[in-house]
Amino acid sequence: MCSTRAEYLLEISQELARFNIEWRRQFRCPTCLRDYPLDSKEITEEHIIPVSQGGKVTTFLCKSCNSMFGAKQTRWLSDWIDLNEGGTPFHGDPRKQKVKVSSNGNTLTASLSMGEDGGIDIFPDKSRSDPKQYEAYWKDKTATNIKIDIQTPVFANEDALGVGFLTAAYGLFFKHFGYSFIFQTILDPVREQILNPDKLIIKWNYLLEIPKPWILEPGVGLMRFGDDIFPVAIIYDHIVILPNSKKLHPDTTSSENTSTKIISLDPSAASRFQGRCLGPAIVLCDFQPLIEPDFVRKATVPPQHIWIDGW
Ligand SMILES: [Zn+2]
Repeated sequence: MCSTRAEYLLEISQELARFNIEWRRQFRCPTCLRDYPLDSKEITEEHIIPVSQGGKVTTFLCKSCNSMFGAKQTRWLSDWIDLNEGGTPFHGDPRKQKVKVSSNGNTLTASLSMGEDGGIDIFPDKSRSDPKQYEAYWKDKTATNIKIDIQTPVFANEDALGVGFLTAAYGLFFKHFGYSFIFQTILDPVREQILNPDKLIIKWNYLLEIPKPWILEPGVGLMRFGDDIFPVAIIYDHIVILPNSKKLHPDTTSSENTSTKIISLDPSAASRFQGRCLGPAIVLCDFQPLIEPDFVRKATVPPQHIWIDGW
């Protein structure tokens, strides 16, 4: 087993070199595809399920991708799990739970927390408020009908939360199938969506809800939709459908055409990062290629085929 971060990173880079020997001792960020020398401080570890929610499974990303995901995707996912696990819709850190307080047309920004008596405490934040409105608010002795607008980002945009699930699923497949998964151009729209979480880029349905019980350990698998099989990731209470190597998305995700069976890929993935790197790899199920890297024909090392027993 790889025990240290350095050993794990070395394996990832050795796998990269198996695709092209000139990429030795480099790390390619799985989302932005930029290259970094293996000893770069820009390579960071990322939790698939946010560490604040007890997530243990990690993968690697460049610092710039990681910090963007931290502020957006990871945060939304964390808020969602928090909410479903009986937490409050408020941010875990009250200083970060922004609210807008307004009266008579003057609005100020405040933060909010739950007091020990169960009441809600509001702390005006002068530095984040419009100075004129802030002054006017406090000078206004006639202030009535005070309106408090609580901003809970997780509810603000369902599409954004979807990108949180998508990012986690993509990271999990990179962890298990390495660059064999990443080097598929069919995933370009997925990467574009992940790198632009505020824009709606993927217009097809890639999320299915799982009825309880929810699963805290993420997993990778295969699901059949009609005649086509797709790689899926199980992230908390959702199944995330990723493109297969030939097709971006299922024709339909309606329950009549979808087998509820998920074939777990964890056993086939488990043999990978254990002191040896097996990429390039082609993953097939029922003769359908599901993961097939584009560079496989020019790769330094010939690809191995991973056959999964299907339906
Ligand atoms: Zn990156």
